[in-house]
Amino acid sequence: MDQTVLDSRLARIGRIPFRAKFHLRAPELSIVDSRGMDVMRTHARDLIDARLAPAHPNKDGRQTPWGGHPVFRAQHATATCCRTCLQINHGIPKGHELTVRQRAYVVDVIVRWIEIDRASHPRRTPASETLI
Ligand SMILES: [Zn+2]
Repeated sequence: MDQTVLDSRLARIGRIPFRAKFHLRAPELSIVDSRGMDVMRTHARDLIDARLAPAHPNKDGRQTPWGGHPVFRAQHATATCCRTCLQINHGIPKGHELTVRQRAYVVDVIVRWIEIDRASHPRRTPASETLI
């Protein structure tokens, strides 16, 4: 998906008050920093395949923890947490298995949100900490 389109869609969803509350917290930030974005993309793929892609996901609507992994945090922030939110906010109907393209779209949304949210946090480096 075109990055400009993706970013404007993320901005629109980010204005929904419930979604706007979600940001990466210290534990999730440290996972992003230690594992890197390529690993985040792999984890997003695996989690989406297992928890969101089936036609009728297990415990749909309650399958996404509030945090602990950056992908979970991103899913709540981007309304890709369950099939109902995906239908309402992204126009992807529930009740069918997600296609390869739809899975790729959801992963793009999640990874982009993690990049944007990561960039909004001041980067703490060991060097800057020793100056204080
Ligand atoms: Zn949901």
